[in-house]
Amino acid sequence: MAAARDLQLTTPVADIPGVSPTKAGALADLGVRNVGQLIAHLPMRHERLEAESPIAELAAESIVTARGVVTTTRVVTRGARPRFEAVIEDGSGRLDLAFFNQIYLRHKVQPGVEVRVQGKAKKRPAAVGGMQLVNPKLWVLTPDQAGEQPPQDERIRPVYPASGAISSQQIEQIIGRVLDRALPLIEDHLPTPHRASRDLPELRTAYRLMHRPESEAEVAHARRRLVYDEFLLMQLALAMRRSQRQRGSAAPVLRCTTAVDQRIRGRFPFTLTPDQDAVIAEITSDLARATPANRLIQGDVGSGKTAVAVYALLLAVASGHQGALMAPTEILAEQHHASIAQLLTGAAVSPTLLTGRLTPKARAAVLSGLADGSVSLVVGTHALLTEHVAFKSLAVAIIDEQHRFGVHQRAALRTRGVGAPSEGGLVHVPHTLVMTATPIPRTLAMTVMGDLDVSSIAHLPPGRKPVATRLVDASRVGEVWDFVRKRVERGEQVFVVAPTIDGSTDDAPLPDSPGDAAAAPASTPTGVLQIAESLREGPLKGLGIGVVHGRLAPEDRERVMNAFRAAEISVLVATTVIEVGVDVPNATIMVILQADRFGLAQLHQLRGRVGRGERPSACVAVPSAGVDTTARLAAFVTTPDGFELAEKDLEIRGFGSMIGAEQSGLPPFKIADLSRDRALLELARRDAGAWIERSPALGAPEEALARRRLMKLHGPWLGLADVG
Ligand code: ADP
Ligand code: MG
Repeated sequence: MAAARDLQLTTPVADIPGVSPTKAGALADLGVRNVGQLIAHLPMRHERLEAESPIAELAAESIVTARGVVTTTRVVTRGARPRFEAVIEDGSGRLDLAFFNQIYLRHKVQPGVEVRVQGKAKKRPAAVGGMQLVNPKLWVLTPDQAGEQPPQDERIRPVYPASGAISSQQIEQIIGRVLDRALPLIEDHLPTPHRASRDLPELRTAYRLMHRPESEAEVAHARRRLVYDEFLLMQLALAMRRSQRQRGSAAPVLRCTTAVDQRIRGRFPFTLTPDQDAVIAEITSDLARATPANRLIQGDVGSGKTAVAVYALLLAVASGHQGALMAPTEILAEQHHASIAQLLTGAAVSPTLLTGRLTPKARAAVLSGLADGSVSLVVGTHALLTEHVAFKSLAVAIIDEQHRFGVHQRAALRTRGVGAPSEGGLVHVPHTLVMTATPIPRTLAMTVMGDLDVSSIAHLPPGRKPVATRLVDASRVGEVWDFVRKRVERGEQVFVVAPTIDGSTDDAPLPDSPGDAAAAPASTPTGVLQIAESLREGPLKGLGIGVVHGRLAPEDRERVMNAFRAAEISVLVATTVIEVGVDVPNATIMVILQADRFGLAQLHQLRGRVGRGERPSACVAVPSAGVDTTARLAAFVTTPDGFELAEKDLEIRGFGSMIGAEQSGLPPFKIADLSRDRALLELARRDAGAWIERSPALGAPEEALARRRLMKLHGPWLGLADVG
């Protein structure tokens, strides 16, 4: 046993007096092995003790709280479950207590001891009379021999994450035993002026108030500090990474003259929207610096991100460097290539396509062109970044539809230098722009993407029509097909999307979060193959119906897509392979079957496939049979705006699932709540930025603690180099 003065934050909980090996094991299962972890085991909430009622006034069948002195006790070992029984009296009446499998209570609950109990009151048989509580919550109010302080009446009590093996109350007691000695050992990583100016309590005070508050206001005060800390350490880590990346590397400086600007703009068959102009201004100012840009461009489906990307690529080329655009799929890469080629007809520069489908010879030619600089503008899949592709002078790298790329690929691209380190030891890296049509809620962008600058295209270019969205019950899907037939007869085209190829779950689409697809009832055996078959035989008989999915050979898929583009096919039954980028202006109807199985972002992406032409478009979401609606579908039909939808998605799914927390390696927040603590996040972000600007490596002695703590939490997932 550790003597009082020996207690350290590293002292094992098993060494705390009164903690049995069993309890120590139970704590270990909760992730609590030593005193420091015990103090960091924060209450999930606090509750006020309920008002006590005189025993004579307890209402049967309700949760009651009473206090009394134990008059008699007995142990009953007969029967399957031994029990301890006690009777308490408070002057107004008597109350029977029964504790099954808790014979040990006889040592604590002895006649003469005062207790408080809380539980459901049951009327006893008339022959016995009165009320009984079975297995009530129990507080012994008479101090025991050890002089342990019973809880005070009006105190608010912490409720800890607990388990079957150890209760919140037991945890509270154990913490109570060490708290006063442990608190002075807790060092604060925030300088006093920093803390004071933000009205944050000292760290040890915050812990004391969390474990032993006198009021709700104290809990709130303490919580504020701990939430701020969680955000601040993360934001410091992100700011540090950004600064590390910027310090060791340089990107080409691209100057945008008025002449170049005019020339590039002249390439577009439309006038750029004010939003596009604003984003381009942000980009050109990024590119004019040697610090590698790292910018996220978010804009709803169809908001015109491609034009912005092309602008940046052409600026690279005009400055004598190279530009690369990467798409998540070959179809998209080809589509981008085709539209950029069209934009550049007659220009001196034309885009080159690099995908896995090139013949080895063609591929070798492209690669050597990239290496010697004769290829200045390349469009490809992410193979461009995962493989060893040498560029002569890559100035701008653009990743389209970023949500399709893993966090790791993004990191790989960023850290990869281009060319050999220059004489100053600086690694040349391209300016990186990441485009996403899945707007990232601001809170999320600030956390996971905290080291990215963010530009937003909030408004769609003129001419885009809103897509009317409706929810139709599976039992009325016949009406949907009638509607589809009418529109096809008017010369319009229709997408029909379902989550699986042949109804099995293993070819389900990648849901936005793990488990989305698994949540679907297994009894809906309809994949796109069966759907197409039944439409051909039944409600859409006689119409041209094509099928595309991920298991088709690329040539076959392309053949069907081309037929659809050429309107030789009216109805395209597809999995989410058509989710991104596919642009067929004559397609006006999007029918999404088993819509409950898609994530919100996916639903919105699918909706974005229509509404691209002159005619009014519609999206019809049909949930799986038996599914009425879900929070997600309700949000989908009522919210046309992608940014707003993203915020709702965050609310519905929570932070962890939205970013794929497991894959990202991001440690979960222990106490912060993004929907509630946004203001603190903003504050922490500003503070962290200013701090790292002042002291990029947190190298001062008084910063050592903050630095150690953030490295431990965030070093691994961010790949932060500890470069003292
Ligand atoms: P996304 O942001 O989804 O990538 P795109 O860049 O593909 O959007 O643009 C969607 C459509 O809007 C394209 O057909 C494009 O030509 C058109 N577009 C883009 N910018 C403008 C603009 N300023 N004015 C009119 N049409 C535009
Ligand atoms: Mg696009």
